[in-house]
Amino acid sequence: QEEDVEMNSRGCETLCTTTWGLCDTVIGVLGGGQLGRMLCQAASPMGVRVSVLDPLPDCPAGKIAYHHQVGSFKDMEAVREFAKGCGALTVEIEHVNVETLEALARENVDIEPKPFTIRIIQDKYIQKMHFKQHGVSLPEFMKIDSEEDAEEAGKLFGYPLMLKSRRDAYDGRGNAVAQSREALSLAISSLGGIERGLYAEKWAPFVKELAVMVARGRNGCIRSFPVVETTHVSNICNTVEAPARIAPEVAKLAMQVAERAVGSLTGAGMFGVELFLLEDGNVLLNEVAPRPHNSGHYTIEACCVSQYEQHLRCVLGLPLGDPSMKVPASLMYNILGEADGEEGFTIAHETMRRAMSVPGASVHWYEKPEIRKQRKMGHITVVGPSSEVVRARMDWIINTKGIQDY
Ligand code: ATP
Ligand code: MG
Ligand code: MG
Repeated sequence: QEEDVEMNSRGCETLCTTTWGLCDTVIGVLGGGQLGRMLCQAASPMGVRVSVLDPLPDCPAGKIAYHHQVGSFKDMEAVREFAKGCGALTVEIEHVNVETLEALARENVDIEPKPFTIRIIQDKYIQKMHFKQHGVSLPEFMKIDSEEDAEEAGKLFGYPLMLKSRRDAYDGRGNAVAQSREALSLAISSLGGIERGLYAEKWAPFVKELAVMVARGRNGCIRSFPVVETTHVSNICNTVEAPARIAPEVAKLAMQVAERAVGSLTGAGMFGVELFLLEDGNVLLNEVAPRPHNSGHYTIEACCVSQYEQHLRCVLGLPLGDPSMKVPASLMYNILGEADGEEGFTIAHETMRRAMSVPGASVHWYEKPEIRKQRKMGHITVVGPSSEVVRARMDWIINTKGIQDY
């Protein structure tokens, strides 16, 4: 454990020099989804003001932000205009106009993490190349510029073969699995064809998916939150359990892979690192997000500082908070739209009502303008004395299974 402490506080002895006055700065966030909303919520107690740029007039963050500029984070003019009213810029989504951010950085606009980091990450193929060059273990991959390339990948990596869109992917919308050579063509067209820009990844036969939220301050100090265990249904994050139920040496390796990956990128802020744990104990990188992450929602209730507050502290150059857990166990569950419209709301509302009658459960509703099937509408975090207890509590909330005997 001493080693863990050492690992978590590497470089943090260099005290940040920012005066509190910098908090008068408005932090501008590109994107106004749920992550932006939770950044606004975390900013409030510190007296920090957050503005958001999002095209949806009633986006989740816009409802509570200090200021909401309705406009696209992909549009040069909108990003430039937005930047004028902000002391520092950051992102809650990586699919932004990075050329404009690069131009603004040259004009000395304060942007964290660095636009070059966002550029690397927003193209998953370039991201993989980058991490490979920096010695981060990851599944084998190759670029696909034709159907023949895909067949070649199938020969090299075998089946099932994972095909991915290089850009604009989220919640698995950009992934297609081909079970055989014959299925390649359909998988390619389901992703919008070769023109979309694709690459192939060798199937990772993971026994668990893990994630680490890594914070990096402006002075380069790294602080990681505990390793968590994630589950996905149809490529969409379903649950996140913290701490992960893994051997200490596996946790250490996961932390090392995550910190090596983040260490190869530039700029301050939170980084969400997704990992695959293989049967032999090896850990491979899946992808990195240059921002707070779904796998870090649990930190709001379960850790001494949340990933959202930590992100703001990083961007502002304030001292970083303690990322360790203040409860023995936590479990997060994403509330996805189960039906469009009113029916979807009724189902979600029922789940939230049940959660409210359970000790240690907190409800987060994102107030998205419309409920749609398979979209993240909110989440529930349960904290408690053990993994068994938080699981039982969540099982009751989601499946109404078991008796209410926690
Ligand atoms: P998000 O950004 O919402 O996390 P995404 O659209 O970027 O998702 P990925 O993270 O690439 O998609 O993949 C989603 C899920 O698909 C992973 O969490 C994992 O469950 C599965 N997956 C991805 N790549 C592989 C692989 N090479 N082998 C096996 N499963 C994979
Ligand atoms: Mg992704
Ligand atoms: Mg992912």
